[in-house]
Amino acid sequence: MTILSADWVLPVEGAPIANGAVALRDGRIEAVGTVAELGEGQRFDGAAIVPGFVNAHTHLEYAVYAAFGDGLSFAPWLATHIERKARIGREETEAIARLGAAQCLASGVTTVGDASFAGAAAHACSDLGLRAIVYLEVFGSDADGAVEQFRAKLDYVRPALSERVRAGVSPHAPYTCSTAVYLACLALDVPVMTHFNESQDELDWLVRGEGPMQPVRELLVEPDGQTGIRRLAAAGALDARVVAAHCVKVDPDEIELLARHDVAVAHCPRSNAILGCGVAPLAELRAAGLRVGVGTDGISSVPSHDYFEELRAVVGSARARSEDAGALSPADALELGTLGGARALGLADEVGSLVPGKRADLAVVTLAGTPYVPWEDPAAAVVYGGGSQQVLATLVDGEVRYERGGFRWHELTDAASRARNLLLQEAPARAQPR
Ligand SMILES: [Zn+2]
Repeated sequence: MTILSADWVLPVEGAPIANGAVALRDGRIEAVGTVAELGEGQRFDGAAIVPGFVNAHTHLEYAVYAAFGDGLSFAPWLATHIERKARIGREETEAIARLGAAQCLASGVTTVGDASFAGAAAHACSDLGLRAIVYLEVFGSDADGAVEQFRAKLDYVRPALSERVRAGVSPHAPYTCSTAVYLACLALDVPVMTHFNESQDELDWLVRGEGPMQPVRELLVEPDGQTGIRRLAAAGALDARVVAAHCVKVDPDEIELLARHDVAVAHCPRSNAILGCGVAPLAELRAAGLRVGVGTDGISSVPSHDYFEELRAVVGSARARSEDAGALSPADALELGTLGGARALGLADEVGSLVPGKRADLAVVTLAGTPYVPWEDPAAAVVYGGGSQQVLATLVDGEVRYERGGFRWHELTDAASRARNLLLQEAPARAQPR
């Protein structure tokens, strides 16, 4: 048995424990209590032990896509990424995904819900010991074609799959996937992730067939006058296996439809802000009883995988939207980023809180040198004062998967920046057909 102790243990289910300790055995949590009860074991002074964060929406394969198309509206931003992504192959994509997975572990993240274009994220998570559901992306109008895309990607990721790294499917979004594709994805009986109501551009296309999406219309499904949520709800294509990223531009009726079908939401406030999409109605989503987690989204739209930055944005955007400092507490944000994400991904029986019997997925965060010690509110200290630089260790299944300074970052970043260099090269002019 291994014992870890710190100034505070924040189990998330249960009150914070001053001078707390966690006992681990065989990859699971054996006990949570005080040092007086469990002993000191390995001691972390000036630190808090928290459940590993559940990053509910990532695109690890875009870890070096920083600022591509920055400042463009959603549709041309998306087109920039699609065009550049075609410039690299599998080897480069794997190198990028490894960097992304390492950055998540270094930020105290122990589980990701990753929307994966290529499947490389599954190999990266398996190699680095990061728990994941890797949702393999499919696109188009043709259901059989989408299932073929899924099967081909599944063949590539199969060697990486385990109890820790599982495969799901991701019909990308209602503007790139038909209702038939969504129904075919549900019939695969694996976890499902999608993107709903992220931008006004999306709604302009789906509802009226107009707006900035028109130039990429060959990639889109034909509009039928409804938002994706309404269209899919009417077709019976929403259920509790579906995790929907964003849900920024949702009206009360759509929130009710999501709640009725128990669709979970991955809230990504930094991505939504930086892309100019808006602020999701987090209070309304929670009030409707939806399962809500927090995702960074990909580096294609946010500057970092620093999960603490995301949690601060969760608090800040909720308070700014409601003009109410009491709208969301740091403890609420911490719960959304751990247990909330685990519930959203359907993993709450196994992870998301420090409770005996659950997987020993946790992070040790030092607050030494921040303005939050001496301690007053430990959740506020972790959420406001934490950062990737302050994560001392991240454990998955009781195994240390990251220790501060422990990764060979130069190898990870060298390979990934070579891939970024290729992404930045202009494609040669296409030869004229003869
Ligand atoms: Zn996404």
